[in-house]
Amino acid sequence: MPPLREADFPDYNSGPALRAYLERRGLSVLKRYGQNFLINPRVRKALIDALELNGGDGVWEIGPGLGAMTLPLLDGGAVVRAFEIDGGVSALLEQLFAGRPFTLVRGDVLKTWESRGDESPYLLGNLPYSIAAPLMGSFIEGGRFFRRMVITVQKELAQRMAASPGSKDYASLSVLLSSAYTVRKLMTLKGASFYPAPHVESASLQLTLRPGIPRYGALFFPLVRSLFEFRRKTAANNLEHFLSQSCIMREAKDAGGGYAGQRDAGSEHGGQKYAVEAALRESGIKAGARAETLEKEQFFALAACLEGSFMLRKTK
Ligand code: SAM
Repeated sequence: MPPLREADFPDYNSGPALRAYLERRGLSVLKRYGQNFLINPRVRKALIDALELNGGDGVWEIGPGLGAMTLPLLDGGAVVRAFEIDGGVSALLEQLFAGRPFTLVRGDVLKTWESRGDESPYLLGNLPYSIAAPLMGSFIEGGRFFRRMVITVQKELAQRMAASPGSKDYASLSVLLSSAYTVRKLMTLKGASFYPAPHVESASLQLTLRPGIPRYGALFFPLVRSLFEFRRKTAANNLEHFLSQSCIMREAKDAGGGYAGQRDAGSEHGGQKYAVEAALRESGIKAGARAETLEKEQFFALAACLEGSFMLRKTK
């Protein structure tokens, strides 16, 4: 099929025009894919500017929709690799951007991203609620880091992603993201910036990779998640639960000076209690502290202290 002409691009600033454009092609706005198109040109420009690209940089665009951000990215000289689940708009995008440095990966980005190389140091996405948190988590746990990401998500989720210790929004995702990135809130967006207008507000974040990606030990991610599992419980209680449910104690001879050598009269439970108390002490965590007050460094210290003595139980 020949590339569409310039005139075949939709008017990205008008909701009704976008709907009509889709309908003319036998398509529609799909709620199940969280399609709320960004119709505010100032916001689109601000988000692209926040990527701070140099011409020729590679960008992963998550959910390009009708290409409202893809077009200025390409016009600015970026090489775009886009991930789109909607087959109808995917076919359209391939026509709109044929012959340009644009690659489309069809399907659910949660399942497809790992098959792609890490040639794109930047990421841009206006992310549906259902994929935003799992996608960010899976990038970090899967060892995929970007020099900079600019994402737009539901406001409450953005608050969680950007939260600092001591705030009610501070959660395992806040720890994961802040472990590698400096997270900066860019703006809050009213529903009217989108078509169709969602009932909730959104917020955009800029995440910039800090120098030196941390070394995550095998216990770090499950430990962080477990410590937030029961928010009203202390870190010590959640940690004991985590160790008894998800870990096994190494043999003392393998523990390399870890806490396993301190088993209380051979009792695993006694050894575990000792390990929890010692690890908290060594990580500078007070006995009654809750996970929501801990700095990211304390999670790293805790995981590192326990790694010599415990390993994850194999799951079937
Ligand atoms: N980027 C466009 C914009 O800002 O106008 C569209 C944003 S719209 C909120 C979300 C886009 O993500 C849609 O194009 C939708 O089809 C796509 N999408 C939703 N779930 C997806 C998934 N799991 N994998 C890939 N794309 C997805």
